[in-house]
Amino acid sequence: MDGADFRRLWDELANIGPADTGGYLRFSWSDADLACRDWFRAQAAARDLRLETDRNGNLYARWDASPPPGEPNDGRAVLTGSHFDSVPHGGAYDGPLGIVSAFLAVDRLRAEGAEPKRPIVVAAFTEEEGGRFGVPCLGSRLMAGVVDPERARRLTDPGGTTLAEAMRAAGADPDLLGPDPDRLAGTAAFVELHIEQGRHLDEEDAPVGVASAIWPHGRWRLDFTGEADHAGTTRLPDRRDPMLTFAFAVLAARKEARLAGGLATVGRVEAEPNATNAIAARVTAWLDARAPDEAVLDEILRGFESKVSERAGRDGTGFAIAPESETPIVEFDGALRDRIAALLGGAPVLPTGAGHDAGVLAAHVPTAMLFVRNPTGVSHAPRESATDEDCAAGVEALAAVLRDLAC
Ligand SMILES: [Zn+2]
Repeated sequence: MDGADFRRLWDELANIGPADTGGYLRFSWSDADLACRDWFRAQAAARDLRLETDRNGNLYARWDASPPPGEPNDGRAVLTGSHFDSVPHGGAYDGPLGIVSAFLAVDRLRAEGAEPKRPIVVAAFTEEEGGRFGVPCLGSRLMAGVVDPERARRLTDPGGTTLAEAMRAAGADPDLLGPDPDRLAGTAAFVELHIEQGRHLDEEDAPVGVASAIWPHGRWRLDFTGEADHAGTTRLPDRRDPMLTFAFAVLAARKEARLAGGLATVGRVEAEPNATNAIAARVTAWLDARAPDEAVLDEILRGFESKVSERAGRDGTGFAIAPESETPIVEFDGALRDRIAALLGGAPVLPTGAGHDAGVLAAHVPTAMLFVRNPTGVSHAPRESATDEDCAAGVEALAAVLRDLAC
């Protein structure tokens, strides 16, 4: 497997959902997503893998086991794969790299005549980014039973289309959404290969690494309320301007995260009435915070809330903070992680601040992640990158792991 082998298959996806920013628009159940799903079906067919779609719209291509007579085999599969969907104008690699690499790892094993004793299954999970319907890892969370299917059906995209409507338009049945304990019980292990979302591997001069844990993280809605008034006639002391409290909050989030050793970001904001010559009546923003452990995350949130509340008192504004999603720390299976790191000749072991389907499945099956070096360190943006040679090294590493776990 060399860089050119990787590039041949990789290029087949390049023209699905590109945007003029150089990034991709591959929202779940969109035309681009359906084209990716068609590509997945074609890959499964070309390899004689059995295609399955589960009740939550996740796709699987299954290489059935051929255990020698007398060999004990509980029939549980080794699952590998990732997601097709992107954030708005996301990079090419986040998600699709894990699916392309999984098909190429199957090719690699077949080329050497491997015969799996367990099924090897390539997976493509739906709506991992939450880029269209707002709930990240929706496909795997529905499967794991941690998202209510009724709530999921009613989720809307920015254009007002519900998930149920989007699925029906794509020929899928939203009434089937729900937990899939049999599929989880039939899985012996899950290994997700992913582009690294940072520069750790670049600094370590290593093409491939293994994940230790996913930092605890969450999203909070911030509501700042004040009084709309004229920008030209309202004296400064008479104003109740929520934009001031909001501005303070952005800086406070950054400061609390820096002092505690975590991360905090305000990347989304809406103002009402959003007029140049009017004091805002209301500002709504979303805080994303992450930390190495839950105590640090708590410290950031407590410091942030108390400082912003105090500032709101001085500004005469209202401030409310409400959690929209909170994900505890995910420690990947220690035995599996150590086994893979050793198998890969002492590959670096690193934590990540990003959520993944692997983080959801880790609560149910032994789960591991492989990372491929990203020299820019950029993620969720067009400059995300990996060399073909590193991607080929990722395929080799994934093939070694599948050989070890399934053959
Ligand atoms: Zn991803």
